[in-house]
Amino acid sequence: MAAQETVDHKYVYDFSEGNKELKELLGGKGANLAEMTNLGLPVPPGFTITTEACQAYLATGREPDGLAGQIEAHLESLERAMGKRLGDPQDPLLVSVRSGAKFSMPGMMETVLNVGLNDQSVEGLAAQAGNNERFAWDSYRRLIQMFGKTVCEVPGEEFEHALDEAKHAKGTHNDLDLDADDLRGLVDAYKKIFLKHTGREFPQQPREQLDLAIRAVFESWNAERAVLYRRQERIPAELGTAVNVVTMVFGNLGPDSGTGVAFTRDPASGAQGIYGDYLANAQGEDVVAGIRNTVPLQELEQLDKASYDELLGIMARLEEHYKDLCDIEFTIERGKLWMLQTRVGKRTAAAAFVIAGQLVDEGLIDLDEALHRVNGAQLAQLMFPRFQLDHEFQPVATGIGASPGAASGTVVFTSARAVELAAEGKSVILVRRETNPDDLNGMIAAKGILTSRGGKTSHAAVVARGMGKTCVSGADEIEVNVPAKRFTVAGQTVAEGDVVSIDGTTGKVYLGEVPVMPSEVVQYFEGSLDPEHVDNALVRAVHRIMTHADGKRRLAVRTNADTGADAARARRFGAEGIGLCRTEHMFLGDRRELVERLILARAPGEREAALAALLPLQRADFEEIFREMDGLPVTVRLIDPPLHEFLPPLEQLAVNVAVAQERGEDVAKEEALLAAVRRMHEENPMLGLRGVRLGLVIPGLFAMQVRAIAEAAVSCARGGGAAKPEIMVPLVGAVQELETVRAEAEKIIAEVVGDSGVEVLIGTMIEVPRAALTAGQIAEAAEFFSFGTNDLTQMGWGFSRDDVEGAFFWRYLELGIFGISPFESIDRDGVGRLVRIAAEEGRAARPGLKLGVCGEHGGDPDSVHFFHEVGLDYVSCSPFRVPVARLEAGRAVVETGGSDSR
Ligand code: PEP
Ligand code: MG
Repeated sequence: MAAQETVDHKYVYDFSEGNKELKELLGGKGANLAEMTNLGLPVPPGFTITTEACQAYLATGREPDGLAGQIEAHLESLERAMGKRLGDPQDPLLVSVRSGAKFSMPGMMETVLNVGLNDQSVEGLAAQAGNNERFAWDSYRRLIQMFGKTVCEVPGEEFEHALDEAKHAKGTHNDLDLDADDLRGLVDAYKKIFLKHTGREFPQQPREQLDLAIRAVFESWNAERAVLYRRQERIPAELGTAVNVVTMVFGNLGPDSGTGVAFTRDPASGAQGIYGDYLANAQGEDVVAGIRNTVPLQELEQLDKASYDELLGIMARLEEHYKDLCDIEFTIERGKLWMLQTRVGKRTAAAAFVIAGQLVDEGLIDLDEALHRVNGAQLAQLMFPRFQLDHEFQPVATGIGASPGAASGTVVFTSARAVELAAEGKSVILVRRETNPDDLNGMIAAKGILTSRGGKTSHAAVVARGMGKTCVSGADEIEVNVPAKRFTVAGQTVAEGDVVSIDGTTGKVYLGEVPVMPSEVVQYFEGSLDPEHVDNALVRAVHRIMTHADGKRRLAVRTNADTGADAARARRFGAEGIGLCRTEHMFLGDRRELVERLILARAPGEREAALAALLPLQRADFEEIFREMDGLPVTVRLIDPPLHEFLPPLEQLAVNVAVAQERGEDVAKEEALLAAVRRMHEENPMLGLRGVRLGLVIPGLFAMQVRAIAEAAVSCARGGGAAKPEIMVPLVGAVQELETVRAEAEKIIAEVVGDSGVEVLIGTMIEVPRAALTAGQIAEAAEFFSFGTNDLTQMGWGFSRDDVEGAFFWRYLELGIFGISPFESIDRDGVGRLVRIAAEEGRAARPGLKLGVCGEHGGDPDSVHFFHEVGLDYVSCSPFRVPVARLEAGRAVVETGGSDSR
């Protein structure tokens, strides 16, 4: 029964049997050739062998049962249709054998042209081509070359070398100067090369040529470069390629023949019009090889008006049919136009928006479809300044594109120097091995940040993204020497004061200044470009599509911001509240000394004094943010990082104390500090005394923050403003932790708020796996949950978020353990499952529980779709990613088929 099924399985489709929806089975090229055939366009007849046949071949190492017979049957009907036979000595049918996968993989797989030529049929071809011997022998030598290289792995250089020798003997550099006799001689030379490398004569049986070529295309799916390309483009490895067997048409039969490529709109800008190149008397691969210069497609009008008009008509028809920009390949054989390929064409991010807008105007698509046609990654690209790299600039190192953008500036190695030079009006690039919270001022002052260690969730990366600042992290070819104020890379030394340029999108680092252009899309979001009045197709298209996304989305979008300035920018970008205000940085800088006193306090009085001094400072911090957010919800997270981060590094302190003791100086204070630092030292600080644990261990710390938040809100309300604070407790793993904090907080809030009308919510982060798994209990003590997916990923996978991306993720990506870092895009199956469980169980225990996410995933396009599906109320992300999240939240509704409108 099973065998019967295999025999009957359909592996071959005539072009007239397929259509454009069958890309998975027929590959993009085959499906679109079928579509054009059925539209009645002039496509050379042919058939497609399915991706299933390829999958079966790759799984077993042999063609599946039934395939050979189906190819035979389709070949016969092709021969009947063309009135020619493959390899006929008098009038041969020739075919091309072309790969074509579901997703385009340009140049990655194989093609063999002119299959069907042999020592006899080459004469027949010459006769049929009007005694064009040169053409026939040139076609034959191309077959041997391509077949040898592709099917039999003969080194391509050997053929190239023989061709060069033939030209040398003739005293020319141009292929076209070789006549029929030269090419006949070249065929002999090629056959000898073939024999030498394969131990056999070049196959003269056309059907054998065909079968071997098909097999070679199947196998090219697993060629090293194809595997690499797929990994990079995240194309699944199991898809396989289809194989198209197409009647050959020739663009190299004389001046009335030629070949070209064209786009129905400009794929760079999206502008309407015909864009393309044409090469008379040539075959497609000549265009690719750049042997001769092409002319603009418009010139075809003078050369062959009838074909030109027909082509324009077909292009208009294709656009209308596909309702999108199409790219095409065509050949003209003695005045007859043939369509060899079409597909919905690749385009730049700017063109994607512009074209989607135009197609809406033209009535070809609606706004939902326009929203579907663009994406957040494209929008993000458009929001960053870009380098104008049309120069001779070569990168000296490549790290991780941690926060996109382009920045040039003077190299500095310390935060203090960054601040100094920035105050003088200089652009600076802060270069560090890695950054820590102490570098914050320098990071704020710098144009860009470059580190030699750390991944996409390292401190540098997260903070830079938060500020919308360019950052390249983990550029490990760079050797940073901070004390010497220099770094070395590729044998060169770059000292403080030298200029470098970093591209946070590609991770590339350049020496010297590369010119930069600002983003118009950001100017629009910032309010300095009015979409109604500006003559800028991109800005108008972005405005229109964003407006539609906002109307569609169910998810609200908040921002992660902890300064008034960030909050203000995020609002301009459309943030509807703050989902995470980290309070850590509010304890650095001038306040460090107070924090040291707090940590080192021996007696309650000392601690209370430090807290009392911190209280007004914190209150002012929160007042500024509440004012900026003007009645929108603000989630303030109580302090989270391990306390040792606020103390000097252990080794350095120990050395200082030892040296001072040696000199006989009074070091009582330093010794006390050293003892405290030793006491607080942890082997795994990320799993140590941080978050709620700190609040439970240091009396009065959380209380001071809660009081500052409540007082700031009341002061805002009394001043005629509005404040909606939400106090968030970090790192909770057990409901008892939250209950303890809550009991104390409620007392303080009641006391401060009085009759002011201010309402303060208390909730928790869900970032420890145990919290997710006991969410039902935790919800009893929480008015909201915010998923901290950075820590949830760290603790879910057991991956240190500061180390692993640079350390071994490359190997995991190579092995396909995951296709993208789980710190970048939510791991739906594992960490995502924890989110789902907690959302469901939390809501079951407390209907109406507010759910959000504030880990880095809140601004990642794919993750936004996941959070929409899970039913969260909002995502929160860095200010710069707010528009991306808005767009993707709208797309999530369109893509799940919803017509949800808020
Ligand atoms: C998180 O863990 O996802 C989170 C938002 O908190 P942080 O990154 O500050 O640890
Ligand atoms: Mg966290």
